[in-house]
This record gives sequence, structure tokens and C-alpha cells, in this order.
Amino acid sequence: MFESRLLAALAAGSTVVTPNKRLARTLVATYDNAQRSAGRRAWPAARALPWSAWLEQLWNDVLAHDALPTVTRLLRAPQARWRWRQIIAADSAALSDVRGAAALAADAWAITKAWGGGGESWRGWRNDALAEDDDCATYAGWAERFHATLGHMRAVDDASLADALIRAIDGVDAWRNLDIVLAGFIEPTPQHDRLITALTERGARIARCEPIAARPTQLARASAGSPRDEMLLALTWARNEALANPGATIGIAVEDLASRRDEVIALAEDVLCPALQLPGHEGETRPYNVSLGSSLASAPLVAAALGWIELSIRSLPLAQAVVLLRSPYLPDATAQWPRRAALVKTWLDSGRREVSYGDAANALDRVDQALGERLRRAFAAYRFPNEASPRVWVDLWRGWLAAIGWPGDRPLTSAEQQTRDAFDELLVNFAAMSVVDERMRMFDALGALGDLGDDTVFQPESPPVPVQIVGLLEAAGLPFDRLWIAGLAADRWPRAPQPHPLLPLAWQRDHDVPRSSAARELRFARKVTTLLLRGAPRVIASYARSVDDDEPRRASQLIAELDLPALAPLDSETCNASYASQLYASAPSLEAIADLRMQPLAEGASVRGGAHAIEAQGNCPFQAVALHRFNVDRWPRAKTGLTAIERGTLVHAALAAFWNDVRDSATLGSLDDSALTARIATAAESARRSLKEERWRWVPPVIAAGETTRLAALLRHWIAAYERTRPPFAVEATEVQAELTLAGVSFRLRLDRVDRVSGGAAIIDYKTGVTLPPKAWFDPRPRSPQLGLYALARRQATPQSLTCAVAYAQLQPGAVKLNGIAADVVSWPALVQVEDTKVGSWPALEAWWEAHLGALAHELRSGVADVAPRDGPKTCRICGLGPLCRVGGVALEVDDIADE
Ligand code: SF4
Repeated sequence: MFESRLLAALAAGSTVVTPNKRLARTLVATYDNAQRSAGRRAWPAARALPWSAWLEQLWNDVLAHDALPTVTRLLRAPQARWRWRQIIAADSAALSDVRGAAALAADAWAITKAWGGGGESWRGWRNDALAEDDDCATYAGWAERFHATLGHMRAVDDASLADALIRAIDGVDAWRNLDIVLAGFIEPTPQHDRLITALTERGARIARCEPIAARPTQLARASAGSPRDEMLLALTWARNEALANPGATIGIAVEDLASRRDEVIALAEDVLCPALQLPGHEGETRPYNVSLGSSLASAPLVAAALGWIELSIRSLPLAQAVVLLRSPYLPDATAQWPRRAALVKTWLDSGRREVSYGDAANALDRVDQALGERLRRAFAAYRFPNEASPRVWVDLWRGWLAAIGWPGDRPLTSAEQQTRDAFDELLVNFAAMSVVDERMRMFDALGALGDLGDDTVFQPESPPVPVQIVGLLEAAGLPFDRLWIAGLAADRWPRAPQPHPLLPLAWQRDHDVPRSSAARELRFARKVTTLLLRGAPRVIASYARSVDDDEPRRASQLIAELDLPALAPLDSETCNASYASQLYASAPSLEAIADLRMQPLAEGASVRGGAHAIEAQGNCPFQAVALHRFNVDRWPRAKTGLTAIERGTLVHAALAAFWNDVRDSATLGSLDDSALTARIATAAESARRSLKEERWRWVPPVIAAGETTRLAALLRHWIAAYERTRPPFAVEATEVQAELTLAGVSFRLRLDRVDRVSGGAAIIDYKTGVTLPPKAWFDPRPRSPQLGLYALARRQATPQSLTCAVAYAQLQPGAVKLNGIAADVVSWPALVQVEDTKVGSWPALEAWWEAHLGALAHELRSGVADVAPRDGPKTCRICGLGPLCRVGGVALEVDDIADE
């Protein structure tokens, strides 16, 4: 409970001023509840507000009374931060993190003002002994310039506001009648005290009051193995307390909440409202809230707005652009997002790494014409200038976002509406930067808006909830029905000293600045601990016994010295199991049904994919069914250069172009070195046309330029090693279409090349990957089946035309090779004589192919779809269909695959 004097002061019409918003809000809510409980239906509004808002109110009095003629403007935090950046950027062009330095300098300025004597302390640090190092002197220079800016603009900033109010004190008569109660200020700054003293001397009635009265409190201690377990323990306890005491307010104060906010939220979701994690509950109110919001720029609704503004002026990385298109903050997003999201595959397929506004609009035409059209219209209506004032930028951005339909057409949740309001305020703050920077270039403006969003901490307000998770300082002074204080380990509490790096250490210690010395921190921690321990009738203080298995940790001395009783153990099962693992553990055991076949194909049906369908059936029946009957596409990978398939296409096209030109071994033999080089260069150049021009645009220029050279070198190597050395031959055809019917299934094939050699025809298949030697072909489920299929297709099409050799030409840079079989190696000595293979003769070879490849075709036709990779994980590793066949959970251990 709050101190009764505070509530009485509110009832009497006093204004209560608090150090933070949460305390002021809680105070007003408690007061209002008390009025309702007393049966009142209407009552004068209680006035409680945080210190910063109160100063602003006083500043409005100053303006209304013209009490400080030399100052006409209040420079708000975003404007001040931007001015600090300008000063630092002008002073230190080589500084890599101007934004970080500006934040540090603004912080130092606030400390100088709050903890200094009210004068220009920094002036003594420029060359003074106090300035121990260059950083302090540098800061002093920046501070002088910032001070001059304020003078030049006749402005005052938030950090100097209290001192400005003191200067204006004689000009505002109304301040004599102020009736103020200050509540919850643990260590008021000297600047704070100066203002309070000046107002009191002026006649204002200002009292101080502890927010919570000292009262008997039941205390206990707890500890856990790690910070995570400690938080789980606290949340489980909070849940139990909330269930046992409906209507109770339960606080969890966390020492390092700022750095653990995301982790704490994830654990709170798991422990306090597990069912709300399921899809469809995103917008529902949680039974807890967490103080210390996150950056406004990271809120999805704002991130989408900033992303669309950025996309309007420059290309975005593919991943970022796709998130924008999938965003729910576009018109008709609920119905259309899956179609819009599918564009990512198109872009990955085409090797796109960046997406421009025009690219997005054009691609959308194929999947969602209405949005594509809308984007184009918006783009035509809003052309951004190179430079404009912040106000103009804001008008343009607003218009642009409205034109593209942000934030969509579905009703916003309460939290989203608050986020949108906060974004509007952000734009207003940005427009107000006109006072420090009249004109901003396009990219500077965009950067400044993003930084402003990053620096703006935002948290949507929620209705009263049972569990409040807050930082230690925020909790000190707040009354709860139950309170858990977490993180009170010896190395965390009191906090270690951490003097500000831009301010002289001696000055900081002289002025008792926060974090300037261990003694100061101990004193401060004692005060905070005392307030925390009276924060509820039942309080538990806890710490983690170790962090990441490091050295064991002890409880803070401030807790250990109290010798508190240990908290009764909680149910350990509920403490440690995540909701996901609980769900998993409670799943019923599944019934296994072997479903290994799909519908058979009709007699004469044709299968898409040609020879690859048979190869896939041999590799793994499910692979063949997925790729060639379900027409599944593998998910493409983001790539910088060409894919292996594209490189293969180039090689095939270059060789086809070369042999369509050169035709036979006699012509090849007649070419001298330079003539051969020229023919190869022409073929390589023409092969580029086998890939779309648009594709080349997305290949980095250095790779695109090197591709033709690489291709020419590969062809040259192949021709020198294997074509020039062959007995006479003539190229009969390249890229030959053929059909083969096997086991009642029809396949469309394409033979890369057929040569006329002594004894008949030689079929050549170009490969840019590794090829197998003939001895590996004769597996019961044949490997490398293409040449067999091609030979059978030739025989089926023209029985009188003999095939007497088949060969895989391996065109791999650094591993050019030939693997094949000939009926008589006289026609091609580099091949293996058929008598030296397992089958022994050419007719037997064709019969073997017919039987074994026919068996695979028969499997394909009858719908055999076993998940049975030929070489286990090795086959799966290059397959890419694992997410579909779920082989990890069906046939093989996932770890096996990962280990391969
Ligand atoms: S991942 Fe393995 S089991 Fe699955 S389809 Fe591919 S090869 Fe077959």
C-alpha cells in the first residue's frame, strides 16, 4: 500500500511528482480505485506526474508569462541529439561511430548539468589538471559548442531546463501557490534540489514523502543454478501466487532487466500464458507486462513503414525486401501474403540479391496485380527530392506510406494502434528537427529517421495485469501485494563503479555522480534495497548461484546480512520444462502406417524429367515421385555467382555451338592454334545467350566477365585432351530430341551429341559434375543411366542404326575426364572395351540396360515411393528434399546426415 499521506495529498488537490511514469500511473490508479471502493461515482482527477512532465508544465508557465525573455525555445531530446551529432561529425570526421559518441556526449552533458553546480563546469576541463585525458578535453570542446548553439538559438534543452526555470522564478507569480509532494526520489540530484529550494523560497509548498510506509514484511530468500533458472523460479512462483490470490498485484524486480528483456519475455510467455504462444493469439493481452520497452524502430508496424520508405529510394537486400512484401501492414495482406511471399523463390532462382522498388512492383504483377499497380501509382506520385527540410520529408513520407496502403486494411489491435500513434509522434519529432538542421539530404534524412526510431523506447500500455516485471530502480517505491527481487548476487548488487568516460573522474567523485565510486554505489544500493524490501507484505530476494558454469556466486552482502529464511521449494517439474517440451512430452504415441505407393500410371503415360526421372528412381523412389510426379521444386539457395545448373547449361551450349561450326575431326585438325582459339571464343560468347540477359544483370560483373574466359579455357582443355587425339569422327547431331518407351512409360530425352565413328554411332553426354567409370554403372539399380537410355532410344527409333560407343565427357575445371564403353576401342581408344565389362558384349550391354532400366521404369509406373536413399545420408545430402520426405524422422538419424 502507498503511504496514506500521499493519497491524502492527492485528495487535497496537491500535485504528486514522481521520478518515473510507472509510479505516477500506479498512484493515480490506486487513488481512483480507492474512490470507487468508497462508493463514489465522480471525483476530481488526481494529479500525479513524473518529474520531466512536471518541468514541462513549469516551462509552459514560463512561456505564458514571458518570464525568460532571453530563451524562447525548448530543444527536445531528438533535436539535441542531432545537434550533438552535427558538432561531433564536424569536429571528428574520422570518428567511426559518430552516433555512439553523440549519445555518450549527450549523457555526459546531462550529468554535468544535473550533478554540477549549475555553471559551466566543462570550461575548466579543456586544459585543466582535472581533465586527465584527451577525451575529457574533447568533450569540453563539444560541450562549449553545444552551449553556444543553445545561446545562438535562444533555447534551453531538457538537461538545462531546471536551471532555466530557476532563472525565471521571479517572473511566474503562480508558482507561489504551487502545492507539490515529491515521492520516490531516492537520490535527488543537486540540480533537482536547487529548483526545489528556489521554488520553496519563492513561497511554493513542497513536501517530500516516501511512497511506501515502513511496515512488517515477511521476507525470504531463494537461489537457483543459473540466471535462467532463477527467472523460471520467480515466474512459477508469480503464477502460483496469482492463481492463489486473484486480484493481487505481483511484482518481479529484475536487476539486469535491460539486458535480459527478450529472454525474460520468452520465459514469461512460457510460464504465465503458454497457450497464448499459439498462432492467432499474438494481439491478446498477456497476464504480465514488462517495463523498459524496446526501440520503436523494431516494432513490426514501424519497421515496415521505415522499410517501405527506404525501398522508395534504394534497393534493399533480398531478405529485407521479402519481409516487406510478406508484411501484414499492406492492403489485402491476409488473403494475399502467401502469393507475395512466393516471390522470394522467383528472385532466388534468378540469383537476385537486391530488390528495387521497380523490381517489387513488376514481380507483384504476376502474383498480385492490384498491389503492383498501387505501388507503381505511388511511385509515380512521389518522387523524392535530393534535399528538403525535415518538415517536407515528413509530408512526403506520410503521403508515400498512405499511397502504398500502409498500414493495411485490417483493424489494428490496441497495441498496434498505440505503435502507430507513436510513429506519428516520431514523425512530428523528426519534423521539429528543422530548428537544428534546415535542410537534409535524402539519405541523411532517412538515416536520421531510423536513428530516431532506434533511440525512441516504446512500449504499448496494457490494462492492469496481475504480474509486473520491472527494473530494480523502478520497483523501489512501488507497492505490490507480493514481490520477488531477482539478480541480487554479490557481483551484481551493489553495482560496480563505472565512471563516465568523458568526464574527469575527480569531478565525478567530488560531485557524487552515479557509478563514480564503490562507496557511493554501496550507499545507493542500501537505500534501494531498503525500499524494495518494504515493497510488499511478502518479499523474496533471490540470486543465481552461477553464470554459464563459471565461478560459484554468493548472495549480495546486502541480503546475506539479513539472514533470511529460505523459500519453501516449488514444484520443480513446472519450473524447468518449457511449454513446448511439455506439449511434446504429452503427445500420444503415433500409429505408424507404411504408405509407400502412389497411384500407378496408365499404360503409355509420359513422365516429366526424361532420363533424370529414372536416375532419381534409382537413387531413391521418393525422390523420383516428388520431383517427377508431384513436380516439387527444391528451395533455391541464395548465391552470388552462377549455379551449377547454369554453368552446365553454358558448357552444353558452348560445345553445341562449337561442333555445329566445326562438324568433324578433319576440320578440327586443320585449325591452327589461333584459329581454334577464335572458334572456341565465338562458341563461348554465343553460349552466354543460353541464360537470360536479366540473369546476367544479377551476376557480379567480375564473375560475369570471367565466365566466358573460364568456359573457353575448359573447352580448350577438353578438345586438346580428348577430341584432337581421337580417330576420325564426324558430329552427326547435337542436342538431339528422342523418345523412349520403357515398361509402358514414355520418356522424352535429349542427347547432347551423336558422332559418326568407324563401326557406328557414338553417343556423348556432357557432364559438369563427377562421372562414374563403367565398372560402377552395373548396380542392380543402375547408376549413371542416361547413356543406357539414350542407346535404347536410338535403337527403338532406328533399329538399323548401330550404336557402338557411349561416353560421359566430364567437363569439370581441373578434372576433365572421359568415361565410356566402346564395342571396339579402335573407334575410340580412350574408352573401355565392352568385353572388359561385367556384361561382355554390346548386345548383352543393351539387354542389361533394357532389363534393369526397365525395372526402374516399372517401379516408377507402379508408384513405388519408398523413402530409401541408395547410399543413405550421402544421397540425401545432395537431394534437398529432406523437409518433404522427413527422412530424419523416418528412415535415418538426422545426426547421420549432418555428420556426412
Ligand atoms: S532426402 Fe533422401 S530420403 Fe528424402 S527423397 Fe531425398 S534421397 Fe530420398
